[in-house]
Amino acid sequence: MGNQYNTLLNKIHQLHDLEKAAQLLVWDREVNMPPMGAAGRTQQISTLQQMIHSMGTSDEMGALIEQAADEVQSEGHPYDSVEASLIRFVTRGYAEGKKFPAEHIARITEVSGAAMPVWAKARQENDFPSFAPYLDQVIELSQEQAEILGYEDEKYDALINQYERGVKTADVRQVFDTVKAQTVPLIQEIQEKGDVIDDTFLHQEYSVATQQKIAPYFAEAVGYDFQRGHIGTATHPFAINFSRDDARITTRWNKQFLNPFLFGTMHECGHAMYEQGTGEDLARTPLARGTSMGVHESQSRMFENLVGRSYGFWQAHYHKLKEAFPSQLGDISLDQFYKAINKVQPSFIRVEADELTYNMHIILRFELEQEMLNGKITAAQLPEAWNNKMETMLGIVPENDSNGCLQDIHWTRPSFGYFPTYALGNLYASQLLDTATQQNPAINDELANGQVTALHQWLGEHIHKSGSKYDPAELISRATGNTLDPQPFIQYTTKKFSAIYELYS
Ligand SMILES: [Zn+2]
Repeated sequence: MGNQYNTLLNKIHQLHDLEKAAQLLVWDREVNMPPMGAAGRTQQISTLQQMIHSMGTSDEMGALIEQAADEVQSEGHPYDSVEASLIRFVTRGYAEGKKFPAEHIARITEVSGAAMPVWAKARQENDFPSFAPYLDQVIELSQEQAEILGYEDEKYDALINQYERGVKTADVRQVFDTVKAQTVPLIQEIQEKGDVIDDTFLHQEYSVATQQKIAPYFAEAVGYDFQRGHIGTATHPFAINFSRDDARITTRWNKQFLNPFLFGTMHECGHAMYEQGTGEDLARTPLARGTSMGVHESQSRMFENLVGRSYGFWQAHYHKLKEAFPSQLGDISLDQFYKAINKVQPSFIRVEADELTYNMHIILRFELEQEMLNGKITAAQLPEAWNNKMETMLGIVPENDSNGCLQDIHWTRPSFGYFPTYALGNLYASQLLDTATQQNPAINDELANGQVTALHQWLGEHIHKSGSKYDPAELISRATGNTLDPQPFIQYTTKKFSAIYELYS
């Protein structure tokens, strides 16, 4: 490696360290900070971010990248080497960082700053009309964003590419349409069975102290490494990392409901284990992180659902939960428990949705975002459009907008294109597990016994270790030999829920 590359690498390491310092301030804000600390903390984070931004977009940085790129090219590093991958990554990032005019960024800050409190109040008071003018501004900013970023086929491509690089809206639409066409009838069939699964025992008092005591057991059961991890408490759980050897999660503890801590912990562990698994050779570079929101979500859903809601997992681990909560679960059999945690029930709120209905919430938002972006509906027309889609996809209509189009914080800022990554994560997860078990049947044998070693080996090798070296579509096709394919998800859910609900058709 030559001098130019090493000089660039040195700068990249510094930028990385500054970013991690800013993230540590975020972690502390969410987990430890007293309420009055907010103002000071915002300033500290903002100062660091300004330093990072000006360092990352400086002319000096641009020149360094160019010189190092020439050097790496002349030295002939192969496409999948760290050197060539890092040059690809920073060249693109630098160009994108320069694309947004300062004026546009200032307006985003201004509009979302004003929209957020109005949205919070509107949701609380079920007053969509007060939020509508702000949503119109967010739509306008999103349209501008698409033009600034540029696109070939359709506007939404530009936006979805910010979160899932290389993915085309038309492809996602086709895949989502397939999922919808298969899932809606399955949900209806389940609904026709009536309320046959009792999950009331999940909703009773579960001591928070006990939840906190046993959470590490379930984190370790899905493969989380506490020598390089830590569980904190936060109202809105997230995973965050400062290096591959310090990838933390947060969980919330609900005294009246067993699920949030249990499946929330496994979900965040999935995110953190992706970061723990990035290659050592990528450390202190932007390649040492998951490649996209969608692939990240595939890892969290893998451990929350495909592993964490499987029969095999609970056959192995249910006794632990029973020991912890003998009065609540003592009389509940493994079968009853397994069915209850997999109960399908169309509901209004996305974050509370079950494994089968969840994607419908996302597809609805994906369709509406395009309609807003393309000027087919204005903010004022959103509630009606929302309710119509809810009825078609889930057979229910929210009684108010607070439980409908006002429920998510996402549309207080121009973040169109983010929602679909949640559903892509579910689809990638099934597709990856399908390939993994074909290549190594021992994975299935292990999962049937609640073990995850072979699965981790496969994921480490095919997903985790390459970090952000490859774009999501490229990574998925390297790992599975195929493009995004909804069939493994459809087959998995059909088989699983047909068995649980005894559907024979
Ligand atoms: Zn997640």
